[in-house]
Amino acid sequence: MSKRPWGYRTRSEKKEPHWDLHSQTHAVRTGIARSGFGETSEAMYLTSGFTYSSAEEAFDSFAEETDHYLYGRFHNPTIAMFEQRLAAIEGADSCVATGSGMSAMFASLACIVEQGDHVVASAAMFSSCHVVITEFLPKWGVTFELVKGNNPADWAKALSKTTKAVFIETPSNPLLDIVDIKMVSDLAHKVGATVIVDNVMASPVLQKPLTLGADVVMYSATKHIDGQGRVLAGAILGSGSYIQEKLLPFVRHSGPSLSPFNAWVLVKSLETMEMRVERMVSNAQVIAEFLEKQPSIKSVKYPGLKSHPEHKLAMKQMNGGGGTTIGIEFKGSQTDVFAFMNKLCVIDISNNLGDSKSLITHPASTTHRRLSPEVQSEMGITPSVLRLSVGLEHSSDLIKDIEQALAK
Ligand SMILES: *Cc1c(COP(=O)(O)O)cnc(C)c1O
Repeated sequence: MSKRPWGYRTRSEKKEPHWDLHSQTHAVRTGIARSGFGETSEAMYLTSGFTYSSAEEAFDSFAEETDHYLYGRFHNPTIAMFEQRLAAIEGADSCVATGSGMSAMFASLACIVEQGDHVVASAAMFSSCHVVITEFLPKWGVTFELVKGNNPADWAKALSKTTKAVFIETPSNPLLDIVDIKMVSDLAHKVGATVIVDNVMASPVLQKPLTLGADVVMYSATKHIDGQGRVLAGAILGSGSYIQEKLLPFVRHSGPSLSPFNAWVLVKSLETMEMRVERMVSNAQVIAEFLEKQPSIKSVKYPGLKSHPEHKLAMKQMNGGGGTTIGIEFKGSQTDVFAFMNKLCVIDISNNLGDSKSLITHPASTTHRRLSPEVQSEMGITPSVLRLSVGLEHSSDLIKDIEQALAK
């Protein structure tokens, strides 16, 4: 629960509640910019530009003396509804929406680093994030160091006065490594670094990095926030000063804007996100426990299982939920793993995750193909590893599906 503005209205002014609203109430109510028609559902302002009633009003608007919308690359009322709603749920001062998770990830770092700076990141990362940190930023003179695990001495050693940003992905995609957000944030702040958390895998429902000491949170809203496989989007949340002084000048002029249509889909998705994620998590827990008992499976990596090396930490920082994604290592070869995938009749083969439909992925040949074999094996991604994103189907149908596909 956090105190946030009740949202602005252009029509009848509704009285603001005098108590702190629960995040699920924010998810349905916050950020509504009702038009003069009094529509119940949020309006979609599908416009790239805005008009002014006079030249003076345009002058004042560009001088930032009014809050008049200027241009679609900068802002839009439907996008503002999504940003305000997500900020309220996250408990953040501000939010900026972007066209994809990767544009959010890139902008969150690019707006603060410059030549000569250093970035420290957790070693297990989504492949595109890995490419940005280890290939793109170095082209512009930004050095990096990757840290594995949760040994405070290893993190302290990597951090130095030139460390401008620390980027952590927890849980990691695809093998659900857990990074201690509070421990890393405390160490990073000692050297004055900004801590950015890729919170995609946990979603805003399970994990609130800002309350654990992180400075910035980024999302691929393509995943649990839309959660129904329809639109690509991203979001960056943080303090007013980071957003206003660093991020906005960068995104306004580099242009990773979200489409108002996609923003509208996401505004409506936020209303049901908590319920969807809770059900996906309870399904995933049941399936992970089932998978762990199967003789053809070598190991199951799921933060909700006691066998996960960071189970206790995960339960503490993820609000008691293990997440919606399971890493599975089979005893067999890639051929056996492919045969298993091909026999599934409910679960789809796909490279997406966080969807209402359960999806199975072979990371080595798809999502993480771009990484070298050495980096893949450091992350534990072998040809026998699958990632299962658990959806909203009934868990017993998912188990039956896995059971029949495992049967020789
Ligand atoms: C998918 C994903 C991203 C990138 O998001 P897009 O919306 O596909 O650009 C970043 N980080 C993690 C952990 C992801 O799973």
